[in-house]
Amino acid sequence: MLTGLPSPSFLSPDMEVETVANIDAGALYQRGIRGVGFDADQTLCGFYGKEIDADLAENVERIRETFDGNVCIISNCTAQRHAELVENFPLHVVPVHSKKPSSDPFRAAEKHFQLLPSKWAFVGDRLLTDIVGANRAGWLSVLVNPLVPDSDPWYMRPARRYEHILRKVYRV
Ligand SMILES: [Mg+2]
Repeated sequence: MLTGLPSPSFLSPDMEVETVANIDAGALYQRGIRGVGFDADQTLCGFYGKEIDADLAENVERIRETFDGNVCIISNCTAQRHAELVENFPLHVVPVHSKKPSSDPFRAAEKHFQLLPSKWAFVGDRLLTDIVGANRAGWLSVLVNPLVPDSDPWYMRPARRYEHILRKVYRV
């Protein structure tokens, strides 16, 4: 658990794309990336979506092929949602013991796939969990827009507003 504000350098995504459909797997491979982690809600699907969004599925498959199956989901979620992800999302779902921005789930993925931190990219929609977590873990951080903004539960609104302010204040 982080206390206080993360360092501005941790808040800055290495890359930004609109959605997972815009990720260029070949370009990431050229950069030396050999594995890709995804956040689930608002990254691979709308909030609590039941499967990978149809518009993203083709590129997720391309990413999976490019990286030889080294793809996973790291989601801050309940045990029930975790079971749902395991059931319906055809990617390795990292077990949840501690939540992003902790480095623990990133280390668990590195261990599972036997890949060093510098070989990974992580894709997510949240600055304070996905991007800070990936940056602290030494992964390439990729920010996407929330996939289905209207599916956000009410409690996400203040978090997104706060992240919006942080981006302005820190110019990240
Ligand atoms: Mg998310």
